[in-house]
Amino acid sequence: MDTHRRRGSQTNWECERCGSSVSARFVRVFGKDRSVYGCVDCLSSKQLFNGEASHPDD
Ligand SMILES: [Zn+2]
Repeated sequence: MDTHRRRGSQTNWECERCGSSVSARFVRVFGKDRSVYGCVDCLSSKQLFNGEASHPDD
């Protein structure tokens, strides 16, 4: 039932680090381009606000 979830202007986004669902708004705020490399599940809010979700380093 969710086979089309990643097409085109997708509305379902995933954290590249842990695979959790994140909102498009979250990606815009904390990610880079169309990817986000961290979310509230795998980063602390301090890490998020430090911009750690905007790049894929580890
Ligand atoms: Zn995550």
